[in-house]
Amino acid sequence: MIAFQKISSRHSIIAMARSALITLIAGAFCVSQTASSRAQSTSVPIVRDAEIEALVTDYATPIIKTAGLSKRAISIVLVNNRSFNAFVDGRRIFINTGALLQAETPNEIIGVLAHETGHLAGGHQFKLREQLANAKTMAVVAGLLGMGAMVAGAASRQGGLAQAGAGVAMGGNEVAMRSLLSYQRTEEMAADRSAVTYLASTGQSAKGMLTTFERFSNALSLTGARADPYRISHPLPRERIANLETLAHASPYFDKKDSPALQQRHDLMRGKIAAYTGGGASVQQTFRKDPQNIGARYGDAIATYLNGSSQSAMSKLDALIKEQPKNPYFQEIKGEILLKQNKAGEAAKAFQTASALDPRKSGLIRMSYGRALMLTGTPANLKESIDIIKASIGRDRESPSGYAYLAQAYGQLGDMPRSDLASAEEKYYSGKIQEAQIFATRAQRGLKSGTPEWIQAQDIISTKRNSK
Ligand SMILES: [Zn+2]
Repeated sequence: MIAFQKISSRHSIIAMARSALITLIAGAFCVSQTASSRAQSTSVPIVRDAEIEALVTDYATPIIKTAGLSKRAISIVLVNNRSFNAFVDGRRIFINTGALLQAETPNEIIGVLAHETGHLAGGHQFKLREQLANAKTMAVVAGLLGMGAMVAGAASRQGGLAQAGAGVAMGGNEVAMRSLLSYQRTEEMAADRSAVTYLASTGQSAKGMLTTFERFSNALSLTGARADPYRISHPLPRERIANLETLAHASPYFDKKDSPALQQRHDLMRGKIAAYTGGGASVQQTFRKDPQNIGARYGDAIATYLNGSSQSAMSKLDALIKEQPKNPYFQEIKGEILLKQNKAGEAAKAFQTASALDPRKSGLIRMSYGRALMLTGTPANLKESIDIIKASIGRDRESPSGYAYLAQAYGQLGDMPRSDLASAEEKYYSGKIQEAQIFATRAQRGLKSGTPEWIQAQDIISTKRNSK
């Protein structure tokens, strides 16, 4: 499941990227309509999805590790944008859904991540990476990322969400933002060299990286002005491609292919992204060469569900579950469909199964489980849902939706101080500090002074309005 969620913020950093419209996706590509119409607010399209995050983490982990940068667990920030872009800050990897959709093999994405890691290890763009790494809330990250998204919009003039940013970026910040993200030619060559080294030491081919960069390079010569943001920030002169070609071919792993299992996960991911971003037509287009691919059938099931045909979607999904009974994400989609059919109890069971099957214990799946339990409305389930949602927040601290569900569950149980405290956290992580403080102040009145929850409320009250 993928959820769209808009976060808005008035943080000072975000003010730099004022009024760009970007959307935040969370959970199961579900859209939550909380967009603020305030002119000064900013939101960025971030996709949250357990399946995609797990896959991209698996792509990145060996690379980050071999580069000596794996001090802590990496998190993946998926940006809902059709264009090709990727960026690494050390703690997080930002990658556009468009890049994941365009790449036909895992190796193409792994190559780009290796190149980005090369920039990171080389200390390139240190200031921006440092800002991103220090950003404590997703709202701030969203703002920083918004600059990139606007560069994308301005550069490519493509449709979709990027376009909303395009007009704004034309206002004068465009050049500044472009220079913020663009690398020097020497840095590009250095990042390529590092990337090839990382790929070789993890036993992987650099062919995918070459494929991606060659595609950019060719597209540029064919269409002239139409440019992807990645190409603008990572210049690709012919000389660089030639260099990379020599380096890539020198590796003993040049002809090594991704494992069939990894390719299948990649196909499933592409099917899902195609369904959520472009519906059935996009699924067909993505798999035109291989319409019976499991990714095509998965995408078709999801597109059918999104189209409102829950019953038909369910039978398509059941066929997939029969093929892969241990796939947690099939169970997760099943839960989504059941929720749509107002079968909260059955949905809770599907999410519970998904969570039990999920090797990563994603906070997102647990959050859906807790939410479905809450929606059953029985007092026992409400209490249990609170524990589960809290556990999911423990794994995914910066998720505004987790706190929103928690507020709802406490509210249904009549525990208003804790409901207010959860709302305060939700507003805080959405970047709405002033609203967060109003809720926190109200929560404190009902909480015992000095208790951990009272202190939690106090922390929000003491936050300076424009600090991160
Ligand atoms: Zn680069």
